[in-house]
Amino acid sequence: MTRIRKITPIALLLLLSPGCAPPDVVYQYSTINALLEGVYDGRMTCGQLVRHGDFGLGTFNALDGEMVVIDSKVYKIRSDGKAYRAPSSEKTPFAMVAKFKPNMIFIIEHDGQPTLEQLLEYKVPDSNLPQAIRIDGHFKYVKVRSVPKQKRPYRRLARIVDDQAVFELKDVRGTLLGFAIPPYMAGVNMPGYHFHFITEDRSRGGHVLKCRTGHVEMQIDEIPELHLVLPESGDFLKANLSGDKSGELHKVEKQN
Ligand SMILES: [Zn+2]
Repeated sequence: MTRIRKITPIALLLLLSPGCAPPDVVYQYSTINALLEGVYDGRMTCGQLVRHGDFGLGTFNALDGEMVVIDSKVYKIRSDGKAYRAPSSEKTPFAMVAKFKPNMIFIIEHDGQPTLEQLLEYKVPDSNLPQAIRIDGHFKYVKVRSVPKQKRPYRRLARIVDDQAVFELKDVRGTLLGFAIPPYMAGVNMPGYHFHFITEDRSRGGHVLKCRTGHVEMQIDEIPELHLVLPESGDFLKANLSGDKSGELHKVEKQN
């Protein structure tokens, strides 16, 4: 069993807003249920998106790859497993970003290879607030996926992941970034954890299916505000966004 040997909170910066500080906001375009229903074309550009956050994840129109937003740069990880810079004019059907300002920073050293779930179980406090989480450092193993670009008529997302491309990265340095979403936000977003990965040299990555870490730094930003922007046209307006889609969602996010 993995044992966490040393956890050192090096800072606990409760950023009590002095009134004039910019708000800590998760900025989200469209909803996870729309993506499950095959709404794969949106009007939000990457250029517009990064005005609202320097950190985040999502996908691209026609489901052309996994999105990583890191340090205000947008990367697209296509189904060849490689990362490409996305032009600011490229559009997304679903994305979420934040201006990352960690409340907590942990340096994590250990004598095992904890899974992501094991790390987060110990370190992320129970919360009804969304949390942005960034983990930088050495990863023993990361299993990632991307999906091939789609053509109309679009199939449901749960069908498309049957064609996903899966890649295993071993002993790599990089960044795992994502969000922890409270269960009450189901339908709008994905309850639980959602992470994407990109290597330190920004050459590879994808949607994270499994991971074991080496020595890493974990930063957590609890965010009390959600700014949801919905598509005003296109498939979104007629998609069936109600009902419990948690079974499909589990298949889409965790299938490996
Ligand atoms: Zn993803």
